[in-house]
Amino acid sequence: MIFDCHMHTPLCGHATGTPEQYIDAARARGVELLTFTCHVPMANPGFGTRNTRMAADDLPRYCEMIEAAREYGQEVGVRVLLGIEAEVFPDEAEMARMDETLARYSFDFVLGSLHHQLPVYRERIRQHGLSSDAAIIADHFESLTYAASTGRYDSFAHPDLIRIYGTVKPFEPLQFESVIREFLSAAAENGTCIEVNTSGFTKGVFEIQPRPQILDWAQQAGVQLTLGSDAHRPDSVGQHFSQAYAAIRAAGFDLLCYFEAGRKTEVSIPS
Ligand SMILES: [Zn+2]
Ligand SMILES: [Zn+2]
Repeated sequence: MIFDCHMHTPLCGHATGTPEQYIDAARARGVELLTFTCHVPMANPGFGTRNTRMAADDLPRYCEMIEAAREYGQEVGVRVLLGIEAEVFPDEAEMARMDETLARYSFDFVLGSLHHQLPVYRERIRQHGLSSDAAIIADHFESLTYAASTGRYDSFAHPDLIRIYGTVKPFEPLQFESVIREFLSAAAENGTCIEVNTSGFTKGVFEIQPRPQILDWAQQAGVQLTLGSDAHRPDSVGQHFSQAYAAIRAAGFDLLCYFEAGRKTEVSIPS
């Protein structure tokens, strides 16, 4: 079965197209299951404002939109699930506020993302005196390790996003093998997946996220995978999936996972 478990709606302010248009795109590409994962509203504007994050008031509307899309999907043969892209941020108070928001709805899938490019994370870098790239990169993976221990997330989106958007200079995973492997062990121990995200192919790095080296380590650690296009427009649904399947198989995986009502389903990698 072909599925795509990471996509957005216009409610976050930087995506276009109705959920129905994403469903039509899925249908055209043989994608049979879509999980919408728009960006969770956050009280602190440091996580983004109108053009980067959904407004708190829009969350009920988001759930209604996806419910309507689910009905449309049923008519045309595409299953639709309700997920959310939650933030990973190493601050208990911020996360407690987000948990209150998450608890108000029944999401099929909670995808955790550490967005180091956001003002709130830049502020953390300043406050903690993380002056070298090495310190920032270590902090990134340690924050993900901590996030894995909370059990809040079903999967971590683009776990090596720190490699792009210029917070640090480009680096090879091997230079940070121990912190990355610690994160992967924590994910495995807690049964949290990591995502293979194909949007990297369009973001100037032109490669899979995470890098194949990290996929190898994930396989060794026993971490399972979800798969997402991170589509912010309908024609990105299912983008570069054949390249993703090849990379996932090359790392020794046989299965991919999706989540429904927080429960994991394992599926063979499509040929
Ligand atoms: Zn986005
Ligand atoms: Zn996303």
